Amino acid sequence: MRVEQNKPSTPAYPMNLKSPFGLRLWILVVSIVLVAGGTIYGLMFAWSRIQQLETKFNSSQLQSFQLASEVRRGLSSLNNSMLSYALVRDPGQWAQFEEVSNDLDLWIDNHDPSLNPHSVLTTENERQAFKELNHAYDAYLGSARAVHTNTLPALVSQTQLAQLDNFNEQAQRMRDLVRKLADAHRAAEADFFKSSNGSLANIRTVLIASVVMLLALVAAMAWVIYRDTIAPLRTKLVQSQSLLERQQKLATLGTLAAGIAHEIRNPLTSLKARLYTLRKRLAAVPEATKDTDIISAEILRLERIVHDILSFARPSEPVLESNEARTLLREVQGLMSANLEGRGIKLVVEPSPDLHFKADSGHLKQVLVNLIRNAAEAIDGSGTITLRWRAVRARLGGHQKDAVVLEVSDTGQGISHEAEKRLFDPFFSTKETGTGLGLSIVARIVERHHGLLQYQTLPGCGTTFGVVLPRETQAPTLVEVAQNTSA
Ligand code: ADP
Repeated sequence: MRVEQNKPSTPAYPMNLKSPFGLRLWILVVSIVLVAGGTIYGLMFAWSRIQQLETKFNSSQLQSFQLASEVRRGLSSLNNSMLSYALVRDPGQWAQFEEVSNDLDLWIDNHDPSLNPHSVLTTENERQAFKELNHAYDAYLGSARAVHTNTLPALVSQTQLAQLDNFNEQAQRMRDLVRKLADAHRAAEADFFKSSNGSLANIRTVLIASVVMLLALVAAMAWVIYRDTIAPLRTKLVQSQSLLERQQKLATLGTLAAGIAHEIRNPLTSLKARLYTLRKRLAAVPEATKDTDIISAEILRLERIVHDILSFARPSEPVLESNEARTLLREVQGLMSANLEGRGIKLVVEPSPDLHFKADSGHLKQVLVNLIRNAAEAIDGSGTITLRWRAVRARLGGHQKDAVVLEVSDTGQGISHEAEKRLFDPFFSTKETGTGLGLSIVARIVERHHGLLQYQTLPGCGTTFGVVLPRETQAPTLVEVAQNTSA
């Protein structure tokens, strides 16, 4: 019989990190750190790119897109003014040209990045182009002044100029309308940038949420890998070492205990007989009846201990016969459910396709009764005990075989790490009136069936004990069933 534990327990000695197990643990830790680090780096990179984009899409950038059209508009008005002056030589026209050209000169100086360090122009190309424009404007003003200083006569009369002005007004109107259209374009452009900024903010939120989810996933994966791969390795290592010692201890203790139990059984029987006659005589004295009741209960307890010790120390040889998992579990349910229901505990059998195995049904019932009794005692108040069976492949007698697991699962308090270390030690009990032999007897019987006892526990949630036995892959013939029934 082997005892296997499916859940990680406190190791019996410190973990050696140089062993293959330690190496796997380190690889796991390093991989998790790498994945988490990579994810955080990716997040920070994306974050900085988003911020750069946001800065680019701000209003000063929009403003810089409009500088060229401002200059174009100013120049167009100056050109017209200069043309009118050249045609009629009106001093008022020259004064107006000078005023507008000075304003434009100031405006250009103000935006020239070589004169104003706070200019809205950002790229090197823009800065260079604006600088050249400023120089060219100075030359433009120089040539305008040259036209003013020469003494050429007027080329057209005032009436002709009025007609030209009228035409010019219409042209100006057209230009204004075109500018209005351009303004509308710019407004649309600004709206587009605004919505782009909104989209960037959304992308950022989605990015953060994805990273958080990714990290949670990595943590969950690490936990699952630890639980399913690393922890069972550690458990098996611990168990294979302690198993041999336990077997030797069991054999010695069994012989000793059987001797003592035998000696106690005879005086117990005569004590019981004496108590019976004493009770009859003292029936009329209520105080004495109370005492005899207590003595009777204690004798019963001693009898149970003696019975347990003898079952543990001198188990009878099992008579193997074909059994149906469903029938066996239903019979045990019938035996125990009424009593348990009185204590608020439901005993249920989970339905599954039936499986067959060879075992001594009497012994196996004792195993299940012991496990159910422990399960019930672990439940504080009301709860449920579930009996189920399933087919598995298991290593039994050194070979991988088809097997059946009979499980007793409870919703009790679970087994503490401290108790786990001594769980199968004879006479170990955490209960006030426990004999500490229930699990030892179970282990003995399963051993004699060449089976395997396994358990899984979660403190505060419950425990599942499983008895693994070799499975009969073919249902028994009618003759075999008849033989078993008559036996
Ligand atoms: P006893 O029932 O007389 O204490 P056992 O050998 O049957 O002796 O059990 C030993 C100990 O194992 C129990 O005292 C209890 O602490 C623990 N144990 C066994 N089964 C369970 C279970 N299903 N849930 C919680 N603890 C359990």
